[in-house]
Amino acid sequence: LSQLFRPLDLLGMVYRTIRQGVIDMGAMFDLVDTAAEVVDAPGAQPLHVTAGHLRFENVRFGYDPGRDILKGIDLDVPPGATVAVVGPSGAGKSTLARLLYRFYDLTGGRLTIDGQDIAEVTQASLRAAIGIVPQDTVLFNDTIGYNIAYGREGATEAEIEAAARGAAIAGFIEHQPERYATRVGERGLKLSGGEKQRVAIARTLLKNPPILILDEATSALDSRTEAEIMATLEAIERGRTTIIIAHRLSTVVHADKIVVLEAGQIVEQGSHAQLLARNGLYAEMWARQAKEREEALAAE
Ligand code: ADP
Ligand code: MG
Repeated sequence: LSQLFRPLDLLGMVYRTIRQGVIDMGAMFDLVDTAAEVVDAPGAQPLHVTAGHLRFENVRFGYDPGRDILKGIDLDVPPGATVAVVGPSGAGKSTLARLLYRFYDLTGGRLTIDGQDIAEVTQASLRAAIGIVPQDTVLFNDTIGYNIAYGREGATEAEIEAAARGAAIAGFIEHQPERYATRVGERGLKLSGGEKQRVAIARTLLKNPPILILDEATSALDSRTEAEIMATLEAIERGRTTIIIAHRLSTVVHADKIVVLEAGQIVEQGSHAQLLARNGLYAEMWARQAKEREEALAAE
């Protein structure tokens, strides 16, 4: 790893750690100010993930007083299951992910992981257990290797390259003049939205967390790259508890359970086949997207 990344003096490292912490959360959640409000409970213990069982119990939340965004969410995600959350934009899907990461505290209800209330465990242990591939990834002004390795301290070169391969970004990196030592960001290589998303996926592959959240993780990818990466994502979903938030329904057909969120409430849930048979909001969204796919094909 030392070959990949330029050496740092201690001061620089401290500064970068602080700055990156801020950028990282900002990148995930677009908000930096509110992050400071969440504090560890007195005597908070580390989270122990045994099976990866997530439970939302009557979860209520609003960003502003008087305007509820989530209005009593009950959701059980069994150990190792993949649960998809779909629904119109603004329904509160990303908010669910932010609450699980405890970027905000709930207004009401409880959120537990293997029976432990996430408000009562240390934030560091909670965040170490969860990998998020967010909607928009902001990269650090550093090497592309550093940006991938950020997923896990002490990763070896071989591990970084394997993660890059899994995220279908290795070929791109190997074509850069300095390969993994190529700098990205303001003074370096500019990556497209899809390339950034693949770096975020590589980072998460490397972090290898027991709990995974994919928040429209492939939304910036063209459909061919999406298909390529979907196989990888489905493979990493196996053996870990996954919440997959998606706009494109074709990417969640494989989920164990699909939950339809509308205006902060769960309005339907079931398997893809069950939801189609129900002829409700999901079936309507599916029909609309199928039509769009056909039109896109016809236009090619
Ligand atoms: P989705 O991911 O389903 O599109 P979000 O969870 O991002 O929806 O947002 C749900 C609602 O919360 C929206 O009405 C949105 O405008 C509002 N919202 C999101 N983030 C914030 C915020 N930081 N402050 C205030 N309102 C917010
Ligand atoms: Mg969202």
